[in-house]
Amino acid sequence: MSSTKRKSANVLLDTALNNFYGAAEEMGLSDGLIAILSNSERRLAVSVPVEMDDGTTRVFEGYRVQHSTAIGPAKGGIRYHPDVCCDECEALAMLMTWKCSLAGIPYGGGKGGVSCDSLALSAKEKERLSRAYAARIEPIIGTWQDIPAPDLGTSGQEMVWYIDTISKIRGQVEPGLFTGKPVTYWGSKGRTEATGRGVATCGLELMKRVGKDPKDIRVAVQGFGAVGSHTAKTMAAAGAKVVAISDITGTYYSSKGVDVEKAYQHMMAHPKRLLEGFTGEGVEKQGVSDVLSADCDLLMPCALEGVLNDKTANNVKAQYVVEGANGPVTPDGDKILDDKGILLVPDFLANAGGVIGSYFEWAQNLQGFFWTEEEYSNRLMHIMKGNFKLVWDYAQSKKVKMRRAAFMAAIQRVADVVKLRGIFL
Ligand code: NAD
Repeated sequence: MSSTKRKSANVLLDTALNNFYGAAEEMGLSDGLIAILSNSERRLAVSVPVEMDDGTTRVFEGYRVQHSTAIGPAKGGIRYHPDVCCDECEALAMLMTWKCSLAGIPYGGGKGGVSCDSLALSAKEKERLSRAYAARIEPIIGTWQDIPAPDLGTSGQEMVWYIDTISKIRGQVEPGLFTGKPVTYWGSKGRTEATGRGVATCGLELMKRVGKDPKDIRVAVQGFGAVGSHTAKTMAAAGAKVVAISDITGTYYSSKGVDVEKAYQHMMAHPKRLLEGFTGEGVEKQGVSDVLSADCDLLMPCALEGVLNDKTANNVKAQYVVEGANGPVTPDGDKILDDKGILLVPDFLANAGGVIGSYFEWAQNLQGFFWTEEEYSNRLMHIMKGNFKLVWDYAQSKKVKMRRAAFMAAIQRVADVVKLRGIFL
């Protein structure tokens, strides 16, 4: 093992590096490959000037990190959140490399973002910020170079602003530059639901493996945004009892089961897409973090990273955890969950539905030919089930946890391609 292991003060990057080093060591990867794969190919930091509605000018910090383009163009979301920093983008970009590799799609890993409070920006300020950010990262964005997508705080609208800006700079329309676009503009039917449906598919596959009927399980979902809401809806549609949902406004708990469809309509009608004011039969409003210790069988954290840590993991009552968000469990949290005998499905297996869906969208954009929603959904479920089986079987045969198994299978594919291509730069 290389004596020059990277360390980071950023929890998410430190977690990503530790997971990588642990798996690489177990695989017997060479020092050279470890050094290459523990570093990012490119880290771009940009300043994003925005004229605010009150006439003042603010400059936001933005980033785009490409961890690896060994297998194909970099792929990964753009996040608007006050905590966005270069290290966080790097950690998430690395996770994208493994996620795309494990998913068997022809991409490397990238991630970007702007440090801002997106809820505090007006629509016009958000548009100006998005266009300025797109113009700044334009030199490294391309259909065969780097293909970003939505993440925390961004949506199809931002993708359209980015494409419009870059298309005008380049003098040609390139719809395949960004994925996660609205269906009305080169998007795919099924993409909005893809990540959440994939997370739920992993939850249901796990239940099958442990011999439980979905109808007998109680589920708690943290976060009710793009991922969490569709995870909860799909679990409920499969017959599971969703006893708790949550967002930044609180936890909404009912031992009888929350009416997820009603909650979804409520959230969609709320001007800031929140559950604030949601009520229902037996629904009790609790604190924001209470969802993590809800009395349930399956916990699905679909909001933020690092929420299950040395302080919170001990309170988990669920027997199973499926990670919908990126990096919701810290290494300390992981150890605690493991000691409690909790079975965990890792993020880059469970939430790969989004990037697999993005791949479908990109493939359709390149062809200029659209699939039906049924085709999209069936192909997605087929791939998700296959990937779950791959990791489950690998974990059983090597007698390792699913997170380690997923890392090992993913890293191996990237390492093989790096060796095949050789070192030029
Ligand atoms: P989103 O902005 O649509 O939703 C986030 C949700 O989490 C919101 O309901 C928000 O209120 C809630 N939330 C934020 N902070 C919280 C807190 N401290 N406690 C409880 N709830 C909180 O974001 P999203 O697209 O659903 O992404 C969620 C996570 O999933 C992120 O980690 C993201 O990186 C990951 N992810 C997203 C996709 C995708 O396709 N959108 C794909 C893969 C992974």
